[in-house]
Amino acid sequence: MTKIIDLRSDTVTQPTAAMRAAMLAAPLGDDVFADDPSVNALQDKIAALLGFEAALFVPTGTQSNLCAILAHCQRGDEYIVGQMAHCYRWEGGGAAVFGSVQPQPLNHQPDGTLSLADIDAAIKPDDAHFARTKLLALENTLGGKLLPLEYIQAATALAHSKGLSRHLDGARLFNAAAAQAALLQPVAERTHPVRHDQVVAQARAIAQCFDSVSVCFSKGLGAPVGSALCGSRDFIARAHRIRKMAGGGMRQSGLLAAAATYALDHHVQRLADDHALARRLAQGLAGIDGLVVEPPQTNIVFVDLTGAAREQSTALLAHLEQHGIRATGLYRLRFVTHLDVDAPGVDQAVAAIRQFFQA
Ligand SMILES: *Cc1c(COP(=O)(O)O)cnc(C)c1O
Repeated sequence: MTKIIDLRSDTVTQPTAAMRAAMLAAPLGDDVFADDPSVNALQDKIAALLGFEAALFVPTGTQSNLCAILAHCQRGDEYIVGQMAHCYRWEGGGAAVFGSVQPQPLNHQPDGTLSLADIDAAIKPDDAHFARTKLLALENTLGGKLLPLEYIQAATALAHSKGLSRHLDGARLFNAAAAQAALLQPVAERTHPVRHDQVVAQARAIAQCFDSVSVCFSKGLGAPVGSALCGSRDFIARAHRIRKMAGGGMRQSGLLAAAATYALDHHVQRLADDHALARRLAQGLAGIDGLVVEPPQTNIVFVDLTGAAREQSTALLAHLEQHGIRATGLYRLRFVTHLDVDAPGVDQAVAAIRQFFQA
């Protein structure tokens, strides 16, 4: 059987043998009684790593964002958020459904940012006509794009000056941090791989601009399940209550937390490898007629099909599937690199696409 090269998402990874061993060896308790040592260790670790007082282990990134928005906002409040942000567009409207918190979506700039002028203009005065603007929610990376740190500092400073809280959906925070660490390397050292401590330092630099940060362990970090929400002790106490209401109080979840801890110890630095594979894929597809390849900043490659190629989109995906290669999208295809793909796999994907277009 040929190995499937699954580029649909970085969520498809299988736990490694070493990660499974760490899970099986984890001491367990009942986390609803707060006595699962592996959950407590993970929460302490991620909070300290990102510079927060406390953290909460949650089953999904969606629940993490829901807990965050509802812990920051009351009914009748609103949060400012990007049109393409996961916590607005891809979470079933949960904050509105469960919390009566209204989103105020803004269009993104081409680099994924929300303009400071747009944010400023969206903050409502204290007037009975308006929902109370309470929160700015940003996402990094957004569609694989790294938000510039100077931008994050300026946007979160603006929000703070207007009395808003700041939440980061950092599902792929460590991808952002790995890309940022690479950009900050002196030119003479650009050929050196980034170090674990450099990536962690950048993750912390980004996270410290916010009052709360959500991080996924089940994406590029390669754990099977789980996210963490970080913030102040008071904030996490409120989020904990919401997690309970959302049915997210888990029992011997140390089994899962141990996988996340393993990922934080062993899979952070290697995100740079995923980024290199994404560049390899993009370079391999350069020059094919009708394909417009967006140069990747992290581990996601978007390929737009234009002209005659647009009509062949479905046939291309079927052709790839036949060759054991999976991707998502229709006229805008998405390829995501991760722990379970390597350079030969990427080259195979490139070859199959070139064969399809005979380019
Ligand atoms: C995947 C993702 C989430 C949600 O993760 P789930 O665990 O699938 O609920 C949230 N935000 C962003 C940016 C994501 O990419």
